Amino acid sequence: MALYSAAAAVLEGLERGDGGIKTLVYNSRFPHVRQLYALVAETLRYSPVLEKLLAGAALLQAEKKLPPQLAKVLVYDLLFGKGLKCGGRWKALARRHRARLEAELARLKVQQKVSRNEDLLAPAQAASPGASQVPRYVRVNTLKTCVDDVIDFFKRQGYSYLGEAASVEELRALSGKKFLLDLHLPELLVFPPQTDFHDNLLYTSGHIILQDKASCLPAFLLSPAAGSHVIDACAAPGNKTSHLAALLKNKGQIFAFDVDTKRLATMNTMLMRAGVTGFQLAQQDFLTVDPRDPKYSRVTHLLLDPSCSGSGMVTRVPGEEAAPSPERLQALAGFQRRVLSHALSFPALRRLVYSTCSLHREENEDVVHAVLQEQGSAFSILPVAAEENPQRREGTEPGAAPKKRKRKKQRVKE
Ligand code: SAM
Repeated sequence: MALYSAAAAVLEGLERGDGGIKTLVYNSRFPHVRQLYALVAETLRYSPVLEKLLAGAALLQAEKKLPPQLAKVLVYDLLFGKGLKCGGRWKALARRHRARLEAELARLKVQQKVSRNEDLLAPAQAASPGASQVPRYVRVNTLKTCVDDVIDFFKRQGYSYLGEAASVEELRALSGKKFLLDLHLPELLVFPPQTDFHDNLLYTSGHIILQDKASCLPAFLLSPAAGSHVIDACAAPGNKTSHLAALLKNKGQIFAFDVDTKRLATMNTMLMRAGVTGFQLAQQDFLTVDPRDPKYSRVTHLLLDPSCSGSGMVTRVPGEEAAPSPERLQALAGFQRRVLSHALSFPALRRLVYSTCSLHREENEDVVHAVLQEQGSAFSILPVAAEENPQRREGTEPGAAPKKRKRKKQRVKE
């Protein structure tokens, strides 16, 4: 696929909520990942300006076959980027409208009394792309409070509550002292990027947890009913464990394991602050935990979030320091396969969520498929609905009869 079409496809995927920018860029299979990532990130950064230019030049009305996302990418590159180095017929089409687009750009600058393209951007967009563009997600800790009370608290602190988000675009466009309820997760509030709540009373008292949306998905998708017995196999520093405890309403039992002493100490403090009870925290290699031990005979749910390359973490730039060597990738994948296979051997297990912060297929799909093949037909993958929150809108558990099914995290269940 050509660069501009690939970028437009990523933008469309983002709009549909298919995944984050890095996931979609990697999944696109476009050979030059960094080039594609840079083009998509910059087009997004200029998106509000591009929309004005497209409207002003009436480009979409004149070119009815030109998809809007592709139009944005082309106009970005024509006016702000490298000047359409490739593009075939699309390049010719965009160039036909160059004079009108340039006139619109000049008009916009006069209107806004600026001379540089960069000055057309709002402060949040002008900042460098990457982690600085990721919204600040706040998970309400329902063990201590409820969503309505937290919303009221922030309103009293001068924030305007805009209600439940209708699209991912809306989350991305947040700025100033405004916040939204996430469109997928019912206990997740969304604030503009870089909002800092580390000194906020709600955070220091454990009423809210500063946890990215991607990190909230595994427990949400595992969705254990209150009273269940659950294993969190690689648990520290414990954000997902505390989320599991909230879903369990502190009823049932969580067995949490990790090998790292320092991370376990942090985890202990965090779980105490979050009001989590009914958990057993062990410094133990999960691979040495005996599935036949009667203690685990009622374990029906298991969350597996093993060590990985971290290549999908938002603070990292794809293709640079995040790229693990083939040897490291192989070693990680070997560990992940062993630990997943072990996890599936707990006798009463019904549902498992496997998650990583990696964009590498070797650590994700390949691990799951390899283990499922070993296990025969006992477990199967359940796709996850990404378009909407079935719990909120249909009152069913996640994954049940979604309108449109898309895989976001690998989930394996009986
Ligand atoms: N689930 C955690 C959370 O949400 O806060 C993050 C887990 S982190 C991605 C992976 C963890 O696996 C690390 O804390 C690491 O120490 C732990 N780990 C690595 N090998 C392990 C093993 N064999 N048994 C148990 N834990 C292990």
